[in-house]
Amino acid sequence: MNQPALTDSHGRAIRDLRISITDRCNFRCFYCMPTEAMEWQPKTEILTYEEIIRLTEIFVSLGINKLRVTGGEPMVRRDVEELIGPLAQIPGVEDLAMTTNGHFLRGRAEGLKKAGLQRLTISMDSLTPERFALLTGRNELHRVLDGIDAAIEAGLHPVKINSVTIRGVNDDQSLGFAEMARNKGVHVRFIEFMPLDNGKVWRREMVMPGDEVRAKINAVYPLVPVASASLSETARRWKFADGAPGEIGFINPVTQPFCGHCSRIRLTADGMIRTCLFSNVEHNIKRLLRGGASDDDLAEFIIATVEKKEARHHINDPEFVQPLRTMSCIGG
Ligand code: SAM
Ligand code: SF4
Repeated sequence: MNQPALTDSHGRAIRDLRISITDRCNFRCFYCMPTEAMEWQPKTEILTYEEIIRLTEIFVSLGINKLRVTGGEPMVRRDVEELIGPLAQIPGVEDLAMTTNGHFLRGRAEGLKKAGLQRLTISMDSLTPERFALLTGRNELHRVLDGIDAAIEAGLHPVKINSVTIRGVNDDQSLGFAEMARNKGVHVRFIEFMPLDNGKVWRREMVMPGDEVRAKINAVYPLVPVASASLSETARRWKFADGAPGEIGFINPVTQPFCGHCSRIRLTADGMIRTCLFSNVEHNIKRLLRGGASDDDLAEFIIATVEKKEARHHINDPEFVQPLRTMSCIGG
């Protein structure tokens, strides 16, 4: 599709929309949600599937061509397949993916594929049941592993595994994840811990730099770089020098920010546009949408909002202020 891209005031082409469809989740990953009762958004504040589809059509008409459905946990929202289907059919959508904790995939992965989902990213931070339970607050590693197999069987290739690596918590399992990539042919992506947690537990010392993880893996399973498909790709990708299947990627937003090539924009479950994960302002498109705005009005609002996209995040600056909303609300 040759639709010109939305462009921000720093000259970046914005092609990638992340759509959070719920702030709720059945897990309580300590780096994302606290274990105590969360205050959920009232259901009436959450965009309906019809509203999400209408907004997405407008985003796509303006040049967005990659969509990722996320949350919270997108599979706790009822019949997510009924959203995936219409999103897949919007002319101009070239890539449709979803990020999930994998818990509900067995029995539904095929239906998601049939509905038009092209790719799945499954989050999993530990390979041992005890540590998994400690990280997520749920003793459900077996379900997630089974969900990964279900995604592979459904042909949602390449299945990606997101693993947030935290020093002193799970950094001893990196080799095990590399072995998983080799054995299952999946793409494992190690993500640096970001200050987006509700419990405010983030400390710089807990960030495990992607380069350190790579060195550990490379010492046992030598890696060779894979050329990125595009500059805006968040992961630095590597494959195994011995030709084993699978891939390893590193998403290093703290130690190697990639803001200069960012092509992303986010729509929260309650209808706010966020121009950066770390924004301290949100742009309320729901008010317009529910106030009877025309498609042209909404398009104008999107164009003006994209122009305001921040040049970069400030995690590494002394004046950094953690956003009020967490990953589970923003949509990772
Ligand atoms: N519930 C789904 C899941 O866990 O895959 C989708 C939403 S979750 C917010 C999206 C991604 O954000 C997950 O891969 C998760 O590991 C990541 N994430 C959440 N909080 C994070 C943090 N503080 N730092 C880095 N990644 C984080
Ligand atoms: Fe839920 Fe995903 Fe956040 Fe974990 S990372 S608490 S699975 S939204």
